[in-house]
Amino acid sequence: MASRVIPSGIKDGENILIQSERFFLMNQQDLLTKFPVTSGRLRLRKERHCVLIIDRVYGLYWEIPPNQAVIFSLFNGAFTVTKIGEIISSIYSVPRARAVKAVCDTITLLSNHNLVSLQNNGVPNNFFWDPKNFIFASEEPNTTPLYKGPVMIEFLITNSCNFRCSYCYMNSPDVRELDEQMDFRLFKKIAQQARDLEVKRAVLSGGEPLLCKDFSKMVELLCSYDIFPYISTNGFLVTNDLVDKLYSLGITFIHVSFDSHNPLTFDALTGKKGAFEAVKKNLQFMKNKGMNILTKSVITKENCREVEKLIDFCYQLGVFKLEIAPCIPSVRGRRTLHSLILDDDERIILKEVVTRKKEEYKSCFEISYSDPLKKWAEVKPETYCVGGISSLVIFPNGRADICEMIPDEEKFNLGNLNEKSLSEIWNSEKVKSIRNIPKHLLSEICKKCQYQTTCRTGCFNLSKVVYGDYFSPDPRCPARDALPK
Ligand code: SF4
Ligand code: SF4
Repeated sequence: MASRVIPSGIKDGENILIQSERFFLMNQQDLLTKFPVTSGRLRLRKERHCVLIIDRVYGLYWEIPPNQAVIFSLFNGAFTVTKIGEIISSIYSVPRARAVKAVCDTITLLSNHNLVSLQNNGVPNNFFWDPKNFIFASEEPNTTPLYKGPVMIEFLITNSCNFRCSYCYMNSPDVRELDEQMDFRLFKKIAQQARDLEVKRAVLSGGEPLLCKDFSKMVELLCSYDIFPYISTNGFLVTNDLVDKLYSLGITFIHVSFDSHNPLTFDALTGKKGAFEAVKKNLQFMKNKGMNILTKSVITKENCREVEKLIDFCYQLGVFKLEIAPCIPSVRGRRTLHSLILDDDERIILKEVVTRKKEEYKSCFEISYSDPLKKWAEVKPETYCVGGISSLVIFPNGRADICEMIPDEEKFNLGNLNEKSLSEIWNSEKVKSIRNIPKHLLSEICKKCQYQTTCRTGCFNLSKVVYGDYFSPDPRCPARDALPK
């Protein structure tokens, strides 16, 4: 799932002298000689009303105004802050001091999101954006912006899996019976259309994606289109040849599900004897090869008491980043899921444990934690669901949807990519009506809510599971408290 952050932008003209005065005054001399550099994980994409910075590994994106993108495109490790200021000064015909200030402001703003770091020496990045591409007059943003295409796509390339994880919605009968793989010709057609729409990230998942016979060809194809393949695997079938292949394609990040440090719990959770030893061995082997391993642990009643040791174990294994996520109920898997969901007390204990461990490892190990069931502290104008806003899910048979949690439900079934193009689906009335939900489907509180156009009633999946209605106000929304129980 991606998330969107909209930083307040630097505008042309006088408004360029804004923000981070303190930072600028404190660090001015030191900062001017530094070489700002961005990560190879990032890509820029021009939209009508903004430029997107896309983190292809973490699946995040940010909107910035074009003039900030021009500055950002010069953060390639080859120029000092002073030099970038000079270039900006000549591009926009503004005084040099003002341009340098704008560069410093942009660094401050973007470093808050870890999008830029400072080098002492000029070591250029391998990639380079032409700043001229981002000199354009942007249109006024819509309240629910329509990007020219999805920012990211999730390909469920197979329904097959060699594990039987208790919490997985794929265990629901409507999926298990299918056991199909995406045809490579269909995959290629979609990937070409995604490239033309400048999609920058494709999650390859399933089922277990390594069971798909064309997996390697799919990865290779995506790389040739500059679409980052984010591989989400259970790690059981990883081989030496596969890791070598990924390396040769420049892929150094892989996502592995890893729910317990305890062999007995792990094998029970996955329904496969010997799974723990095999996955542990493969994690060690990938680590030794230099792969950045991102693990995700889904926490249920079955493993919630082991989280502290699980974190220590992942750190010792050399995991790059650990994501801890309490299991959420889904429409698709609800026949089995409800008994596994943590209750309020268990979620409080989990949060305490993770907070303590995050503090313990703060200088050496990244641990992310978010409680998807936590009550929203206040109503905020954010986009809670990115389905149809920036992402699409594509099932093995070519069906496009906004969310894998929701089964073949007419409201969200966007059509089949065997019959329609990606662009046709993205620009269809159906997707528009999911972006801007028709008034008659909304509850009275959402109709009156000032955040309706960005929130869109929150998570459709959760609302359906809890209240039986996809468009009911999100169960976490505080405005719900005003409703009769
Ligand atoms: S769920 Fe409805 S009431 Fe709550 S923030 Fe979203 S649109 Fe507003
Ligand atoms: S409906 Fe909910 S689970 Fe599905 S993509 Fe949207 S926020 Fe995520």
